[in-house]
Amino acid sequence: MTRKILLTGGAGYIGSHTYAALCEAGYDVAILDNFDNARPDVPDRLEVITGKPVTVHRCDILDPAALARVFASDHFDGVVHFAARKAVGESQRMPLEYIETNCTGLINLLKAMRAAEVFNIVFSSSATVYAPTTDWPIPEGAALGYASTYAYTKLMGEQIIAQVAAADPRWHYGVLRYFNPAGAHTSALLGEDPSDIPNNLMPYIAKVATGELPALNVFGNDYPTPDGTGVRDYIHVMDLARGHVLSLTELIERGNSHTLNLGTGQGYSVLDMLNAYSRACGKELPYVVAPRREGDLDCYYGDPTKAEALLGFRAERGLDAMCADSWAWVSRKSNMRGQG
Ligand code: UDP
Repeated sequence: MTRKILLTGGAGYIGSHTYAALCEAGYDVAILDNFDNARPDVPDRLEVITGKPVTVHRCDILDPAALARVFASDHFDGVVHFAARKAVGESQRMPLEYIETNCTGLINLLKAMRAAEVFNIVFSSSATVYAPTTDWPIPEGAALGYASTYAYTKLMGEQIIAQVAAADPRWHYGVLRYFNPAGAHTSALLGEDPSDIPNNLMPYIAKVATGELPALNVFGNDYPTPDGTGVRDYIHVMDLARGHVLSLTELIERGNSHTLNLGTGQGYSVLDMLNAYSRACGKELPYVVAPRREGDLDCYYGDPTKAEALLGFRAERGLDAMCADSWAWVSRKSNMRGQG
């Protein structure tokens, strides 16, 4: 029997890749998105990738009546919940908006699910819920904390879901803590597409590669790491998407709630990333050393063994694939702009 899934934020960066992965795994998926931070033609591109019409509910999770209409329109076996605000720096300037979308939005969704008797949820969390540590890689049992309003809302989201599930055994949840998503769909039809100057490393490097930005600012080269630049756990967005499929299947087929890291367990430095991208695009990308960014840690990478033990999940695509797929995506986009 084909299972029906509602994918909130399904037109966004990770959401759209997860849509493609869920369809490939045989799920019947509908997207719920308000398109505040997603391109309007993502559903068209998903139709090209999947060869099937895409169902889209244009809906805001802050609108309970609209959510109720979506759940009345069909019976869903589960929800994968991405719809959220996600910029750490912005969250410091707009705490109420972040708490409202990420926490009130989640509560609205859980209420709508309960009313429709849908009790399986995969929740998009973040490795920012870990308290600062010097113990790498981080296992799921490490101390939790937050250094930004964004991280606060993700930790709060995890705790809200845990409280709800503790009170009613019909609920099953998969909480997935992502490390640093990178790369694009191998079709070059989906990828990260920030309209402003990116805050994150990979989309910034991509814009240096296309010539939209002159050089990468490397935020500090005097960290206690092998080359002095910050080390992170970059995971290919298609691996991340596959992790969501496995998590959902674990909930639906076996009713096993879980909280897992999704990363590779492998740390790469800023210069590792820049060099890999230079290889992918065939030219040496320029950089300048800038002061450290406030709040940055020298190192951050996860212990991926629990996801492998429970779900059989292991990231399969390495650094070169992340950069090659990102480059294929951004160069296709800039060619299209050139023709337009
Ligand atoms: N970084 C950098 N220049 C940039 C953006 C990021 O040197 O323009 C560094 C940053 O200091 C960190 C790494 O790249 O060491 C990853 O940063 P990102 O913001 O992508 O992820 P996060 O720090 O949230 O893990």
